[in-house]
Amino acid sequence: MKKIGMVSLGCPKNLVDSEALLGDLTRHGYELTPEESEADIIIVNTCGFLQASVKESIDTILDMARHKTSGKCQQLIVTGCLAERHPEELLAEIPEIDHLLGTKQYPLLRSLLDGNGTVQQRNHVHEPAQYFEAYGDRVLTTPFYSAYVKIAEGCSNKCAFCIIPKLRGPIASRPLASIVEEVRRLAAGGVKEFNLVSQDTTLYGYDIRMKDGLVRLLDALAEIDGVAWLRLFYCYPTAVNDALIEAVQRIDQVCNYLDVPLQHTHDFMLKHMIRQETEQGVRRMLDTLRTRIPGVTLRTTFITGFPGERDEHFQHMVDFVQEMEFDHLGVFTYSDEPGTTAYDLPDKVDAKVAQERKDILMAMQKDIVCRKNKDRIGEVHPVLVEGLQEDCLLTGRLPVQGPDIDGQVIIENSSVEPGDIVPMRITGALDYDLVATSVTPAP
Ligand code: SF4
Repeated sequence: MKKIGMVSLGCPKNLVDSEALLGDLTRHGYELTPEESEADIIIVNTCGFLQASVKESIDTILDMARHKTSGKCQQLIVTGCLAERHPEELLAEIPEIDHLLGTKQYPLLRSLLDGNGTVQQRNHVHEPAQYFEAYGDRVLTTPFYSAYVKIAEGCSNKCAFCIIPKLRGPIASRPLASIVEEVRRLAAGGVKEFNLVSQDTTLYGYDIRMKDGLVRLLDALAEIDGVAWLRLFYCYPTAVNDALIEAVQRIDQVCNYLDVPLQHTHDFMLKHMIRQETEQGVRRMLDTLRTRIPGVTLRTTFITGFPGERDEHFQHMVDFVQEMEFDHLGVFTYSDEPGTTAYDLPDKVDAKVAQERKDILMAMQKDIVCRKNKDRIGEVHPVLVEGLQEDCLLTGRLPVQGPDIDGQVIIENSSVEPGDIVPMRITGALDYDLVATSVTPAP
């Protein structure tokens, strides 16, 4: 049996592709190994979103290529967004790459590997797109009780700073039945928390003529035994409509949590970014959300230093963040990406200024989160137990804490197991984390 080593870079959508690929290969006689030095075949599923991720992907490929001389590796496979973005350069610069597949050819890999190196052609990025029918048999790399579910591929928006539509194409929603079957199988395997992801989750179903597709999907997934939590990531602000808000409020399994990247707050900047929302539209959306779902948890993302951003535009964002008090906030400095519309814009902002602006927003946000966490002391909430971490802390998460990005709960004096969902009383608050103890008396 040939051994496969896999490095998966980038976002949760890429991770799902990696897991589906591993599922396909292991179902057809390939074995996984965590040791690249032991692998006969190494796959690097790359990210190509920002220059920083391009560099990380290239460094990783070069690192893995060493195993073709010093290790057992016979075939080095590169897939994903960087392969889509720079296929010719990668193949010219890194001769150790045996096969290059983009973001639409993952199912093709097995036939290439079964060829045992007889397939001479290296570049497969432009071959016809094919997607895995089923994702239910994927090899989960997240903890057994939690999974990302990629509900669509690509994006039909045209944000000026973003290269993704060029790398992944326009939105392609997965058939609802395929997602339901995937979640049914994962839930039967013990998964309780399902994080729904895509480039624009709110547009799910739009390209397959399904009105309010996301609401229909949530209703269908909530019917499945074992589904405890459904969480929505990457919602586009103009598509957070009444039907979706009603569904989040009505369906118990749907966490009162929405990730709605806003990118900026000032209309001049939003227009320059080729975003569809306006400040007033965003205010209405947030107001409706908070009125209809009291206590709803909101995550958002902003970019500082987008071309043309002046002090008054940034001050507008500072005032907005102070006023809106988001529960979770991510801030990125603008990355000048060749191939994006913004790349050709004048009035580039100094990277140092962009960083200073990011630091100001993050410092404000830290104070906001600290106070909100303190306000939670005494409350009782269900906690998904994650388990013992490397630092020997037992941790978990509330429904309003997404994995890896939103802080955790440090669990004290509780006899609980990973994967348990247990009511706990918040007893303390740290910067981004909470402290809690189970209200169910220990046996
Ligand atoms: S919504 Fe905008 S930022 Fe997000 S993937 Fe689509 S184009 Fe990129």
